[in-house]
Amino acid sequence: MAEINFELEERTTKVELPENLIFGRTFTDHVFEMDYDEALGGWHSPTIKKYSNLNLSPAAMVLHYGQSIFEGLKAYKQVDGRIALFRPEKNIERLNNSARKMCIPEVDSDLVLKALLELVKIDQDWIPTKKGHSLYIRPVMFATDPFLGVRPGNNYKLIIMLSPVGPYYPEGFKPVPILATDKYVRAVRKGVGDCKTAGNYAASLAAQREARKLGYTQVLWLDAIEQKYLEEVGTMNIFVHFENEVATPPLQGTILPGVTRNSVLQILRDWGYNVNERRIHIDEILSGYKNGNLKELFGTGTAAVISSIGKLSYNDELLNFNSEEAGELGLKLYEEITGIQYGRVEDRYNWMTYLD
Ligand SMILES: *Cc1c(COP(=O)(O)O)cnc(C)c1O
Repeated sequence: MAEINFELEERTTKVELPENLIFGRTFTDHVFEMDYDEALGGWHSPTIKKYSNLNLSPAAMVLHYGQSIFEGLKAYKQVDGRIALFRPEKNIERLNNSARKMCIPEVDSDLVLKALLELVKIDQDWIPTKKGHSLYIRPVMFATDPFLGVRPGNNYKLIIMLSPVGPYYPEGFKPVPILATDKYVRAVRKGVGDCKTAGNYAASLAAQREARKLGYTQVLWLDAIEQKYLEEVGTMNIFVHFENEVATPPLQGTILPGVTRNSVLQILRDWGYNVNERRIHIDEILSGYKNGNLKELFGTGTAAVISSIGKLSYNDELLNFNSEEAGELGLKLYEEITGIQYGRVEDRYNWMTYLD
């Protein structure tokens, strides 16, 4: 494994975190950077250095053709003061899966894990300790060659940056209103819907803006072919709690294989729920709502962990679930997963990676 270089910037003052941490606004002192040069034999010069602006050509391929992928995970200061990351190996594996599909050269996963841990260690004073706070970790990888022409790049950069964040819902675990749309689609089978690649998110903005205008916080994406089957909610996976079943859409290449989704599936199976990864027709939601078979809907993702769905609008129908209170199972899962992340609940799956 390559040795990481350290070009550290000593602080002369104490880290002062803003009172209200807005998600994704504040960055720490250092980043990890590593470059890829075809001519130099691949990935080289892994370095932890001062956070600063990039020096990039206006012709950098990423700016024109979007060859860019990213990840998102978190580090937590636990109740006993230890620092731990939640399932980082899953994010690194997914980063390399995205890389393969987007023709970006893969990275050494042991080196990237080491880089994550070293970087968090160096900037650990930035980890907020207030309830529900954490350090968001954002790796991003993109083509840097100055070249106009559609082909895979020969040069890439991997950057890992850190951002202290508050709870996703500062006013507490509140159900959100969502809009199911058949006016837009997110991804189609055999496409890149299962990659965390920049273009997927750019392509989702118009639908999201429309939903926001109508008073909804997220879009519930339906499948691209029939526009009838549930896919994802915003940038979260979706779960449906029926009377005798918990269901979530299967991984068939159109949705992101969420680490939180995977963790929720495991916990629910261990709790004895009847859990199925299967296609869910929107009519099942409508009829379940009417006949009382549908108990709750929730989204899962690193940022919010669990997001209870309070209202769902679809064509002329408006379904009200728990507009005032979060659904019961969603709340129970939220307590369990955040309990493991903050060390209040035993880490029985060995999901946490400790700094030391
Ligand atoms: C990141 C992401 C998720 C959630 O994945 P986690 O690993 O649980 O954070 C779900 N859907 C989309 C589209 C995403 O980008």
